[in-house]
Amino acid sequence: MILLDGNKLSAVIRKEIGHRVIDFCGKEIRPPHLAAVLIGDNPASQAYVRNKIKACEEVGFASTLIKKPETTTQEELLDIVRGLNEDPKLDGYIVQLPLPRHIKEEEITLAIDPAKDVDGFHPNNFGRMALGMPSFLPATPMGIMIMLDRYQIPTDGKHCVVLGRSNIVGTPIALLMSKKSKPGNATVTIAHSRTQNLSEITRSAQIIIAALGIPHFLKEDMVSPGTCIIDVGINKIEDTSHAKGYRLVGDVDFEKVKYKCSAITPVPGGVGPMTITALLENTWRAFREKK
Ligand code: NDP
Repeated sequence: MILLDGNKLSAVIRKEIGHRVIDFCGKEIRPPHLAAVLIGDNPASQAYVRNKIKACEEVGFASTLIKKPETTTQEELLDIVRGLNEDPKLDGYIVQLPLPRHIKEEEITLAIDPAKDVDGFHPNNFGRMALGMPSFLPATPMGIMIMLDRYQIPTDGKHCVVLGRSNIVGTPIALLMSKKSKPGNATVTIAHSRTQNLSEITRSAQIIIAALGIPHFLKEDMVSPGTCIIDVGINKIEDTSHAKGYRLVGDVDFEKVKYKCSAITPVPGGVGPMTITALLENTWRAFREKK
């Protein structure tokens, strides 16, 4: 079994990005610049944004954190977004999700300049991705594709079952896996909460991408020997043996399933760091396209 180590692979790729920054930027050319907008005090969102800013520092990017209270209004956030769109010293930015309930997420996403949409959530980028045109890919699916590529996991002609159909993970990764590309060229099945006979479907897969948000959902008896498993889930479960009183687990029953697979991502340390690495790649690309 190959452990698809997102931390190790990210370290390699981030070093490559760091070298690109050193080679390209200098006295005359400023480094790539990413901004993150964080609304409210959601601890998970705070941690994600912290990691993104830290990753920028690691590769030599400039970063800006815009932190606003939970009470921020729709109009105030739209003003921030318009300001970021117009800032010539900024290459890309993200608005960390989820947003407070009173803010209409869709309206915010639509206001982001697609050329700075390094999360790849704007319909322009999503549509371009669906058509196979150059675009910013959503960071998590892109991170998974980079991982499959670098670990040389065969995908051509394989049956890939994607568990989950969200706009940010399930649907885009299903699209990318079915594209005429490498990695890609898979025969893809998308499963969701209404899917029947799920175990039968997952057992017929050679690749399973689990993005449900249900701890340990994918069990040993749902997997055939030799399957490659990508676990996107990040779930908190109570664990009094940990100082924080909880630990993070994926959507896969890792300890039991790992003996059956050909390759598997751990949680934490699998798709999570690759998502941030993909965000850095998108920021680099936004920067280069501007030049
Ligand atoms: P969503 O809640 O938006 O989507 C979950 C999907 O799972 C839905 O499509 C839902 O189906 C499906 N689902 C729910 N129950 C079942 C079931 N019993 N059988 C089959 N499908 C089911 O989640 P996200 O896509 O946003 O995130 C999924 C997980 O990935 C979460 O744990 C999240 O924290 C994690 N995540 C990790 C990232 C990373 O960087 N590693 C980045 C983003 C997310 P239906 O559509 O019918 O409701």
